[in-house]
Amino acid sequence: MNRILELNPYERTVRVEPGVLNGELKKYLKKYGLFYPPDPASYAFSTIGGNVATGAGGPRGLKYGTTKDYVLALEVGLPGGKLLKTGPHTLKGVVPYNLTPLFIGSEGTLGVILEIVLKVLPLPEKRALFVLSLPSEIQALEIINELLQKGITPSSAEFIDKTSLKACEESINQLKAELKINFPLESMLFIEIDGKSLEVLEDLNFLEKYFQENSLIFIKSEIESEIENLWEIRRNLSPSLKKLASKKKADDIVLPRSKMVDFLKFLRELENNFPLFISAFGHAGDGNFHVNLLYEEEEAAKKVREIILKKVIELNGTISGEHGVGYLKRSYIKWELDPLQLEIMKRIKAIFDPKGLLNPQIKLP
Ligand SMILES: Cc1cc2nc3c(=O)[nH]c(=O)nc-3n(C[C@H](O)[C@H](O)[C@H](O)COP(=O)(O)OP(=O)(O)OC[C@H]3O[C@@H](n4cnc5c(N)ncnc54)[C@H](O)[C@@H]3O)c2cc1C
Repeated sequence: MNRILELNPYERTVRVEPGVLNGELKKYLKKYGLFYPPDPASYAFSTIGGNVATGAGGPRGLKYGTTKDYVLALEVGLPGGKLLKTGPHTLKGVVPYNLTPLFIGSEGTLGVILEIVLKVLPLPEKRALFVLSLPSEIQALEIINELLQKGITPSSAEFIDKTSLKACEESINQLKAELKINFPLESMLFIEIDGKSLEVLEDLNFLEKYFQENSLIFIKSEIESEIENLWEIRRNLSPSLKKLASKKKADDIVLPRSKMVDFLKFLRELENNFPLFISAFGHAGDGNFHVNLLYEEEEAAKKVREIILKKVIELNGTISGEHGVGYLKRSYIKWELDPLQLEIMKRIKAIFDPKGLLNPQIKLP
């Protein structure tokens, strides 16, 4: 089910089957001067159906939001063979209870998504990327907060922490040599801006001046192919982490942005006290850290994971921003949700799937 069924450039909508790859849709829309912003790092191999079912986000979430902001309507197969159409297809509509968002992030527990109507946007005229190399992790997070306070909304503000940098030592050493960096590199920031050419130029000048005034080391690119090559460093991060230890536990927690610095300090303290590595890279502009435990000892990793998830909840965060609950986190969701919320989720599941046939092992405890 990998067909793009209908593009309506006038309405700026596209109707697709769930097996269309995110990257294929982007390529197709580009021919018409349009674009679909949600861009999980897995865009080359993840499907729109999977993106909807997990509520996928990506680096561009800071400016453009995530999958939930683009799904207008769905056709869903329910157990027993009934077809549910959610909608309307229009940009507004309040007649039905809005059932569409129920399926976004439902992880295949409520129905099988068969068709998706997505909102699309005009392709930005221009984009530019800054890659900053920094001697401090905290400084990186502070820069993002400061830029947002100054009214700059980058399309992406991605953070790479010091443990993750250890995992890509080879390419980082090469970069350090090229940029003549002579301090221990603790973090990197990818800041991308896009939009109308004139707006981008204005932000570009502002950012360049701001980085220079703060004596920061950065690479700047306005060339599409170069920008894509630079992003590859960030996209290859997750697979590189395996170099640090043989086992990995991956979470994708989200915090209020104001709590990120304290949380990172907390992670570094934990890392000093347990026999494992903690990497925490990700969509820092959204408060979203991909926290990965790289370890050999199962017991210690389980304990640290639980300490981290409890801390996230204490800080008013959420234990999954985009990857979902799946099988591995379902026993933890009752820490975050109140009993009534959980009870209503179970009743909703029973309406759509009374026999519990759809992904019975995941999401709900
Ligand atoms: C290297 C790497 C980087 C990643 N980066 C990101 C990132 O930046 N942001 C992000 O959000 N995620 C990221 N992910 C996670 C993952 O790619 C996303 O969750 C993606 O949306 C999953 O899509 P998929 O097609 O692979 O779905 P699958 O993994 O096949 O399925 C995911 C879930 O959706 C359900 N599902 C799939 N299709 C349907 C359907 N048609 N109807 C109902 N349920 C369905 C499945 O049952 C399953 O529960 C990354 C993963 C990897 C490996």
